[in-house]
Amino acid sequence: MTEPIFERLVLIGVGLIGSSVARIARARGDIARVVVANARTEATLARVNELGIADVCEIDLVRAVEGADCVMLCAPVGAYAALAAAIGPHLAPGSIVTDVGSTKQSVIRDIGPHLPQGVHFVPAHPMAGTEFSGPDAGFVELFRGRWCLLTPPPGTDPQAVERIKMLWERCGASISVMDPAHHDRVVAIVSHLPHLIAFTICGTADDLADETRKEVLQFAASGFRDFTRIAASDPVMWRDVFLNNREALLEMLARFTEDAQAMARAVRWGDSSYIEDKVNRGRKIRQALLDLHQA
Ligand code: NAP
Repeated sequence: MTEPIFERLVLIGVGLIGSSVARIARARGDIARVVVANARTEATLARVNELGIADVCEIDLVRAVEGADCVMLCAPVGAYAALAAAIGPHLAPGSIVTDVGSTKQSVIRDIGPHLPQGVHFVPAHPMAGTEFSGPDAGFVELFRGRWCLLTPPPGTDPQAVERIKMLWERCGASISVMDPAHHDRVVAIVSHLPHLIAFTICGTADDLADETRKEVLQFAASGFRDFTRIAASDPVMWRDVFLNNREALLEMLARFTEDAQAMARAVRWGDSSYIEDKVNRGRKIRQALLDLHQA
């Protein structure tokens, strides 16, 4: 069998993403010789233990990272600064710290300063997910055929980047390396704004008068149903994503609001060709996604 990339991989956070990595690492055997799980609560670690998806479950952060050659942060991004401050002094020289957070400039801002000299930092974002969370939500196919975006700061050790790239390739993902600011703008439009719209539209429907609200649920057509699936996501994770990609998200929201106003104007004045043109652009984008096997 191929040698594992790491001796001891520590996952800080074992929800949807962390537990999927754990499952894959345990199933393949060529990612890490030992998989260590750490979470905030005993209950989560007890469940990880029951599921048998980690070799070691350790609630104490310092003990968890002891002797690790790779530490992967898989908690909500708002927790990263405190986690990095707590583990920083205990990381072995030559080890790699990586993460799976959905925002990248904030992660570099929050983790970077806490890492001692000689510890490599390779931020990553697997572009795969579902609306479910917790250790039961993970599964081995989650990253298969999906993208994982790496945003190493300038001067990062190329060998460290190569090992994280290899880890995600063994999880089934394709890799793209990009600048963190560019990453944040791209995900603002493809992921963060759609979630913001979904949370908002569900709120709007819920604010309707009793009678109408009942009918919204009873007759929910696929459009509204699709929004409710996205809106079922974890509130803490999304609160942290919005607050940590503030600028890019607000910029995309402003552009969207302008375009929505233009559509409203077309509806008001009966501008059929404007409406048709927009629907056609939507169809083209959907077809392009299907062609790329991303839908
Ligand atoms: P999740 O299912 O809600 O799991 C979060 C995990 O982090 C849990 O094990 C939780 O432990 C732990 N945790 C929470 N707060 C913590 C803290 N302060 N210190 C230590 N551990 C803490 O979340 P997820 O969906 O896997 O998301 C994890 C990360 O992946 C986030 O940064 C998110 O931005 C990123 N991401 C998510 C998706 C997605 O679609 N879900 C996709 C790509 C990337 P307890 O259960 O003990 O609280």
